[in-house]
Amino acid sequence: MLAILALAWIGSVTAWGLIEARGESSAVLRAVFGLNGVFHPAAFFVLWRRLLPMRVVDMACLLFAAGLCAACMALRLYVPALGAKIDIQPLYLWIPVIYVFAFTLTGHRSSLRLSLAILALFVAISLPYLLQRPVAPHANFTFQLHMVSAILVAALYFFSSYQHRLQAAQLTVDELARLANTDALTGLANRRRVGEEVAAELVRARRYGHAFSVILIDIDHFKRINDRHGHGVGDAVLVDLAARAKEVLRDVDMLGRWGGEEFIAVLPETGFAQTLDKARALCAHIAARPLAGDHAVSVSCGVATAQTSDSSGSLVQRADEALYAAKRQGRNRAEGA
Ligand code: GH3
Ligand code: MG
Ligand code: MG
Repeated sequence: MLAILALAWIGSVTAWGLIEARGESSAVLRAVFGLNGVFHPAAFFVLWRRLLPMRVVDMACLLFAAGLCAACMALRLYVPALGAKIDIQPLYLWIPVIYVFAFTLTGHRSSLRLSLAILALFVAISLPYLLQRPVAPHANFTFQLHMVSAILVAALYFFSSYQHRLQAAQLTVDELARLANTDALTGLANRRRVGEEVAAELVRARRYGHAFSVILIDIDHFKRINDRHGHGVGDAVLVDLAARAKEVLRDVDMLGRWGGEEFIAVLPETGFAQTLDKARALCAHIAARPLAGDHAVSVSCGVATAQTSDSSGSLVQRADEALYAAKRQGRNRAEGA
């Protein structure tokens, strides 16, 4: 927008200079170009210093352009003494540009209303002129301008509502993609998404020779919480546990819900010893304070680090075996495979 304002100012000043050089200027033209010469730098300054929101400056530019064209049209059609030097063709060239500008500003419906209001203004100004008998000199041209304007506004509305529908469809697609990858209860990545991440990390680890590990996390005796306090409390524990586990993990790690009361953490560029430490810290952090009110909960963790021969399935399978070793050895602990 700053570039457009700068170009508009340069164009306007150049046109003024040429008109003055050819001796075709008049008091009205000087006033028009003078106003342009002041308005564009003022709008530029307001926008550059962020004194007003962009939408307000855009709207001010549109109203300024429409007002200036309406004033020039009125002078040209009704006051020959003042408007004689106003060239009718460039004037009528700028009016369709105003409709295009209006459709870049607001939503498709409000742009239509704005454009129709501007069209009504120009029609109202020129109507007495068009009705003059005998037919006035610029009547045909002015009538054509209104016809072209109406067609242009209709075409712009068609394209902008088409674009609007496309945007709405894109939002739906984005939302569906988000839902397809998210666990509804905890908001974590779901099994599908986390499975993709494990596969992608395996490829990356193999290509760049990075270490890469996963931690499978299972709540100890979770069934008891459901049985004693009901599914609602069980759900609240799952949500709280997800938030608590994230506190231990890094931003680059992905935590997902693997299923039921099992979670999985994907730790890129992390070796076995470091991951086992992290899993032990996770167990301690979960057990440190009750979850969802006053429910003391612990978790068991199984750690596995990718080997070159691993597939996603074999990697998670080893983490699962380690998890069950942790369960057998008394729970609230982490084991590795
Ligand atoms: P262990 O220490 O051996 O893991 O015992 P556990 O009770 O945690 O394991 P088990 O597999 O016997 O029970 C898991 C329970 O998790 C059973 C199931 O009803 C519950 N569960 C699974 N998904 C959900 C859920 O979304 N919400 C709630 N509230 N419970 C769930
Ligand atoms: Mg389980
Ligand atoms: Mg369990």
